[in-house]
Amino acid sequence: MHSYQVTEFGAPLSPADGGVPEPQGAQAVVKVDACGVCHSDIHLWEGHFDLGNGRQLPFGSGPDMLPITPGHEIVGEVVAVGPDAAGVSVGDRRVVFPWIGCNACAICAAGNEHLCNKPQAPGITIDGGYSDHVLVPDAKYLLDYEGLPAELACTYACSGLTAFSALKKVGALGPRDPLVIVGAGGVGLAGVRFAEAVTGQKPIVVDIDDSKLEAAREAGAADVLNSSEDDAGKRLFKMTGGAAASIDFVGAESSFKFADRALRKGGKVVVVGLFGGSVTLPLPLIPMRSVSVQGSYVGTLDEMKELLTLVRSGVVAPMPIETRPLEQATQTLEDLRAGRIVGRVVLRP
Ligand SMILES: [Zn+2]
Ligand SMILES: [Zn+2]
Repeated sequence: MHSYQVTEFGAPLSPADGGVPEPQGAQAVVKVDACGVCHSDIHLWEGHFDLGNGRQLPFGSGPDMLPITPGHEIVGEVVAVGPDAAGVSVGDRRVVFPWIGCNACAICAAGNEHLCNKPQAPGITIDGGYSDHVLVPDAKYLLDYEGLPAELACTYACSGLTAFSALKKVGALGPRDPLVIVGAGGVGLAGVRFAEAVTGQKPIVVDIDDSKLEAAREAGAADVLNSSEDDAGKRLFKMTGGAAASIDFVGAESSFKFADRALRKGGKVVVVGLFGGSVTLPLPLIPMRSVSVQGSYVGTLDEMKELLTLVRSGVVAPMPIETRPLEQATQTLEDLRAGRIVGRVVLRP
């Protein structure tokens, strides 16, 4: 088994070779066809999240978790299953639902495994898909993607699912309920593509990069706005008359403020991005404006099944994918961190 691992936070990934694991119980081994490169991989690589004001949140258990193989957008062929694995056979092609919990706590019992405090998530807390093989804790997390290209299917495990779940939290919108999406990176663009199917509204998309806004237009945005221009906030309010909902796919101080100020009274901002930072909110304005702030982190197993059904029905245009060899993992993380990637890069071993 040939993998690329984080052995030291921030250092180039190290190639590692070892035996392919033997699946026990309900586990399964997937021979990786493709693995998407996600912003969370940068946080794992750097070893922390930025909480603003010089504070950092360590990623997972910090240095104790090293070495670890990143990569949680995994698709491939089932090559071995444990004696209790159900629902898949060797030779099946599957995409991995990676947001796996402990399966024992109240959060998992409620179907929110992605929020479990003892996660066993490939590429996050256990070895993931920057490899030619990956061990999946239970075969029930292997989902059928028949009808979709493999390198597209893997992106639905995180960027697609994250966008879909955030839009579900917005819910159905009427014709007079504008939706604003802030940030047109990989996840934001997925949100632009799914927005009409999930909420009924084409979004107005805001970013600081014109090439990303162009991509958003092609992905189906109703309109676009560069937030680095003068009076962008005022112009947005003029375009919308106040948004019913906004989604911050960046999660920086400036993007959150923009998403919050775009709202009309009673509106909701969903925060998805993990860029980092902090904000100060004037408390009286929260009740007076009756706004809600809701966080959204990846999504549930049920949402991923629902999403795969939606994309396999063909109503959502596929996202542009660039494939690179697995050996370019470190370079790809650097490109992503520097904002040089439009759409999604998928690594192939
Ligand atoms: Zn749990
Ligand atoms: Zn991700």
